[in-house]
Amino acid sequence: MAKVLIIGAGGVGGVVVQKCAANPEVFSEIVLASRRLEKCREIQERAPRPIQIEQVDADQVVELVALIRKHEPQLVVNVALPYQDLTIMEACLETGTHYMDTANYEHPDEAKFEYMEQRALHDRFRDAGLMALLGSGFAPGVTNVFCAHARKHHFDEIHTIDILDCNGGDHGKAFATNFNPEINIREITQPGRYWEAGEWREIPAMSEMMVWDYPEIGPRDSYLLYHEELESLAKNLAPVGLKRIRFFMTFGQEYLTHLRVLGNVGLTSIEPVMYEGREIIPLQFLKAMLPDPGSLAAGYTGKTNIGCVFDGVKDGQPRKLYLYNVCDHAETYKEVQAQAISYTTGVPAMIGAMMMLQGKWSGKGVFNMEEFDPDPFMEQLNQQGLPWHETWL
Ligand code: NDP
Repeated sequence: MAKVLIIGAGGVGGVVVQKCAANPEVFSEIVLASRRLEKCREIQERAPRPIQIEQVDADQVVELVALIRKHEPQLVVNVALPYQDLTIMEACLETGTHYMDTANYEHPDEAKFEYMEQRALHDRFRDAGLMALLGSGFAPGVTNVFCAHARKHHFDEIHTIDILDCNGGDHGKAFATNFNPEINIREITQPGRYWEAGEWREIPAMSEMMVWDYPEIGPRDSYLLYHEELESLAKNLAPVGLKRIRFFMTFGQEYLTHLRVLGNVGLTSIEPVMYEGREIIPLQFLKAMLPDPGSLAAGYTGKTNIGCVFDGVKDGQPRKLYLYNVCDHAETYKEVQAQAISYTTGVPAMIGAMMMLQGKWSGKGVFNMEEFDPDPFMEQLNQQGLPWHETWL
């Protein structure tokens, strides 16, 4: 029985609240706080049992500290934006509270995707006897746990890993992103990067493509991107034989054409420009024009398929495995009024919080998901709406 403070009332926050509320034996009390109280209220009204709501500017450590002191939660679940990771971690340190998030810290003025600044807080969390769990969404998150599971149960050595992220759904809009548009477009317009033979290799954005036949969806063009879990997985799996790790995401031609045009006219840039006497960030302006990802949920059809292809050896024999989940947009809408991208992020966020609060995952310091026993997490995925499948290739 524990009290949890969830920060961020967006698409993912809505799912985390619903799923925590559905597990009252773990999450006895729920507080939801976000920049706008009306967004919290919308989620509160949909919740299956009473939750408390609060307004907070999570860029301000002082406000966060006051909020945490008022409610005294055991754990803060950060599902606001990556810009707020460091302020929320700082407030947790100041108040002696455990911390969890779903995306690595990003500086608003520079799109770098790395754990360095959060990992730098490791000794302070350790010395305070606190735990911070980073990246408990699907990718990162479940993909890291899939790697730990494959390593524990199926391989003596894993030589290559391809993480595959496919959204085969249709929301009927000409162009929209499935989670926060600003964060999403920053991620996919950066150069592609992967790790091979101990080195990071960089390629121009969207310049490498393969076709993968996704179970329950079919063949889709999949483009090599840099994604944050590559950093910790390369480091943690290199000692057990990893030679290469890459990340691929599917995009349709229509989406890529829109993105190219928006990029060509400068609307995906994060460099400030002057407009009618004031500075604006083109990408933030574009975000204001695009549909709110949460609004895509009603009428969204099709499925997501996210998983990992592992190539390696067991008992001296080569083997290849695809470990994946399939999630149906219409089903998740029926269950929690959210599309599958919010759902596949929010459910693992709730499970990560559950692992910490039940003491199934514990430690002092800052950790990535693959550093813990995958078994209790994998068991909960099957029970909480994200069943996984294994196909030997
Ligand atoms: P949304 O933009 O829908 O929601 C973010 C919420 O945070 C909004 O309610 C927003 O408020 C609130 N917020 C933003 N800034 C502040 C602030 N300064 N103080 C308080 N609240 C703030 O995003 P999503 O729900 O789609 O994504 C949430 C997180 O999940 C992101 O960090 C995203 O990167 C991550 N994610 C992780 C994935 C994974 O698999 N690991 C996949 C998808 C997303 P307002 O409503 O006022 O704008």
